[in-house]
Amino acid sequence: MTPLLEVSGVSHSYHTMEGETNALSHITFSIYNGEFVAIVGPSGCGKTTLLTLLAGLAVPESGTILLNGRPAAESHERIGYMFQRDRLLEWRTILGNVSLGLEIQKRLTPQTREELLSMLDAYGLGEFAHSRPSELSGGMRQRAALIRTLALKPDLLLLDEPFSALDYQTRLTVCDDISSIIRKNRKTAVLVTHDLSEAISAADRILVLSPRPGTLKGEISLDFAGETSPIRRRNMPQFSTYFNSVWKELKTDETVSHEQIPEETAAAEPSAPE
Ligand code: ADP
Ligand code: MG
Repeated sequence: MTPLLEVSGVSHSYHTMEGETNALSHITFSIYNGEFVAIVGPSGCGKTTLLTLLAGLAVPESGTILLNGRPAAESHERIGYMFQRDRLLEWRTILGNVSLGLEIQKRLTPQTREELLSMLDAYGLGEFAHSRPSELSGGMRQRAALIRTLALKPDLLLLDEPFSALDYQTRLTVCDDISSIIRKNRKTAVLVTHDLSEAISAADRILVLSPRPGTLKGEISLDFAGETSPIRRRNMPQFSTYFNSVWKELKTDETVSHEQIPEETAAAEPSAPE
C-alpha cells in the first residue's frame, strides 16, 4: 500500500538577519490512509515547521515530502489545517464561519449549506448556528473551528496544538469530542502537541522529536485494544506504561539540549499565534 504521506530525509532551516536556525534535521516517516498520528516534542523543536512543510506551504531545504506520490506543494489532495487558536471571525455567525472556506471556493450551495447545518447539529452546535462566536465556550468554538476545517472535506487533517489554548478540564472533553469526530469521519490526521498525555490518549502512533533541530527520536505504536476515546484510554493500564516510556525519551533529550545551547533554547520559542 502506498502511504498517503511519505517524508524522506527532510531538513529545514530559517535564514534571518540574526543568522541561521536549523529547525529540522533528517526526518523520515510515512503515514497511511486513515491513521491518526501524533507528533510530540518540546517547544521550539520544529513541530509547526514540519506541519507547514506537510501542508506544502513551504518547500523543505532538503529531502522530499510526497502526498500520494506527488510533492506536497504540487499535490491535488485537500489539506485541512487547524490552529492553536480557533481564529473564528467574530462578526460572522457560527454558520457564517464554518461556511467561509466553501464560500471562498464558490462551493457554497443550498446542499452544502444543509450539510453544514447537519454537521453543526451532529456535533452539538445546531442551536448556535446563528450565534456569534463570542456566545460560545472555548470548547464549542474549537469544535466550530474543526467543522470549518472538515467542511472542505480534506484528505489530510493537520492539527497544530489545537487544544493548548483551553483550560485543562475543557481540553480533556474537547480532545475527546474532536478525536471522535475525526475517527467517525475516518480522516487521516496528524496532531502536533507538546503534551504527551494528549498524544497517547488520542493517536494510533506517536512520533517523538528531539529538541531543535528536531530529529525523529522514536516511534511508538499504541495498542489500546480498539479503545479510541481519549478519556477512557487515560484510565487504562497501558496509558501509564506508554507515558513512562515516551517521557523518559523526551526528558533525557531536554536536559542535554539545555546544557548544550542555553541561550538559543531560551530564544527558541516563537511567538504564539494570536
Ligand atoms: P514548535 O512548533 O515545535 O514550537 P517551530 O517549528 O515553531 O517549533 O520553530 C522551530 C524553530 O524555528 C524555533 O527555534 C523557531 O524560533 C524557529 N522559527 C520558526 N519560524 C521561524 C521563522 N519564520 N523565521 C525564523 N525562525 C523561525
Ligand atoms: Mg508550534
